[in-house]
Amino acid sequence: MKDMVLLGDEAFALGTLHAGLSAAFGYPGTPSTEIMEYLIDNYERNRESCENTPVAQWCSNEKTALEAALGVSFSGRRAVVTMKHVGLNVAADPFMNASLCGIKGGLIIAVADDPSMHSSQGEQDSRFYADFAMVPCFEPATQQEAYEMAFEAFNVSEKYNVPVIMRFVTRLSHSRAVVNVDESKIRSQNKLEKADRKEWMLVPALARKNYEKMIAKQDELIAYATSSSSNPLVLNKKRTDLAIITSGIGRNYFLENLPDYKAHCEKMFAGLGIPSTLHIGTLPLPVDSIKKLAEIAKTILIIEEGQPFLEKQLSSVLPQYTQVLGKFTGHLPRTGELNPDLVRKALGLEPNKTMLSETAGLKDACANLPGRPPQLCKGCPHIDSYISLNSAVASLVEKAGKDNVVVNADIGCYALGGAAPLNAIETIVCMGASIGMARGASQAGVKYTFGVIGDSTFLHSGITNLVDCVATKTPVTVVLLDNTIVAMTGCQPTMLSSSQFEPLIKGLGVEPEHIRILATNPANREANAKVLIEEAEYRGVSVVIMVRECLEAFRIRNKKAKNDI
Ligand code: SF4
Repeated sequence: MKDMVLLGDEAFALGTLHAGLSAAFGYPGTPSTEIMEYLIDNYERNRESCENTPVAQWCSNEKTALEAALGVSFSGRRAVVTMKHVGLNVAADPFMNASLCGIKGGLIIAVADDPSMHSSQGEQDSRFYADFAMVPCFEPATQQEAYEMAFEAFNVSEKYNVPVIMRFVTRLSHSRAVVNVDESKIRSQNKLEKADRKEWMLVPALARKNYEKMIAKQDELIAYATSSSSNPLVLNKKRTDLAIITSGIGRNYFLENLPDYKAHCEKMFAGLGIPSTLHIGTLPLPVDSIKKLAEIAKTILIIEEGQPFLEKQLSSVLPQYTQVLGKFTGHLPRTGELNPDLVRKALGLEPNKTMLSETAGLKDACANLPGRPPQLCKGCPHIDSYISLNSAVASLVEKAGKDNVVVNADIGCYALGGAAPLNAIETIVCMGASIGMARGASQAGVKYTFGVIGDSTFLHSGITNLVDCVATKTPVTVVLLDNTIVAMTGCQPTMLSSSQFEPLIKGLGVEPEHIRILATNPANREANAKVLIEEAEYRGVSVVIMVRECLEAFRIRNKKAKNDI
């Protein structure tokens, strides 16, 4: 036994290693990135000394990562895939179909949701995907559970032959706690043993059978969830007024208020104790446990992080006369993260006076501080690129009018070019959308359309849009901001190096004379603006690659070089 202080992401990563992981794949995305960073560090440090070290590699996108993991599972070995919540949209095709394959080696899809959108474009809740694909979903509430659930999730995946989602949220992924590691439970990797091919050939005749099997499995999965220690039920028949369901880290906020809540219940319901509770750490819904709560209490309060998933699900399980309180009824907010104060209010407790005075003091102290929205680093290469682009756009607007110039952008540090003072871009929707939207705008009649995209995002999902532009000969100017790294998530390597972009783009069919490679720096701003205008005037597909290394990447590279000396 030993104690380690770990992030939620790290605790899970260590759990997968100890549970017999053979390979891990992922695409960086906050707050999931640290899972893969932990596994890659382990791989890099140990692969030369130990040939069985689990492989851990970044991939071009979440779809390719999941498909690689499926190959591991088909070979009988355990695999994990990591991504942020919106990454599961990208991987949705293999994910939904994987649920119909007879998973052989355990397969965990670790998805980190970002309630409050700290670094995301939406508050998507991955539990809906688990329900959609009818697969189990584990939701650790603590770092210890993140470690232990890795073992359980692999076992469930192999026992029921299904992929399993491990849902994280930002507060768990990015906070540290002591994790007790029982080294006697460390397990070796599965031996190579291919799956039955009939279980993996999703042609209609076989897929129909697999789908029937999947439906038939649902009762077993519900029975598993009902008896799982992740879903503890504590009944109190004396309290018929209320029962409480928590899930994920909602339980932590409930437990934080528990001493005050016990005192409150003692005052209001002398001798009757606190209401019955059910914690849901594993889906599908533990239906029998929920029914038992409803037999006792006429009202159920649901404390869950994310969207009102359980509230929606419960309507299919509870009798009509049971009232459900939660996010739909305004007892908890529909948007943003939960916190102990919000849960306190939902429990009917007075605001915490100590917290109130501390919060008020903090508010006073912050009242006169200027706002500090995120910004591009001072000296960031994107600043020079955007100054050139803004200058080009101003000339084109003067010539053709503002409705004839569109600048679509994408996800990455360069999204910060949308803020003042640059105000350089007009849209940010999802990974890779910039080029497709520029194509659409062009086909809608806009004369000059730009798609601004980073090197990694281009390889993630911009490349297919460029193929569409080439195939349809649509006039579009792609501005590829090559800073040589995946900067926004902490400087992970881009899948291809700078020198590989030109031949790649040429190979896709862009005319060589319309692939322009520019060094972006203050001295070249004006000349680069002229090139952007020239290429915007070209009535075909052009790609302007603006190259300069990210400052953070430069700093990391230098530090590594010094350490290597
Ligand atoms: S991390 Fe790199 S790319 Fe991102 S803003 Fe800073 S310098 Fe620019």
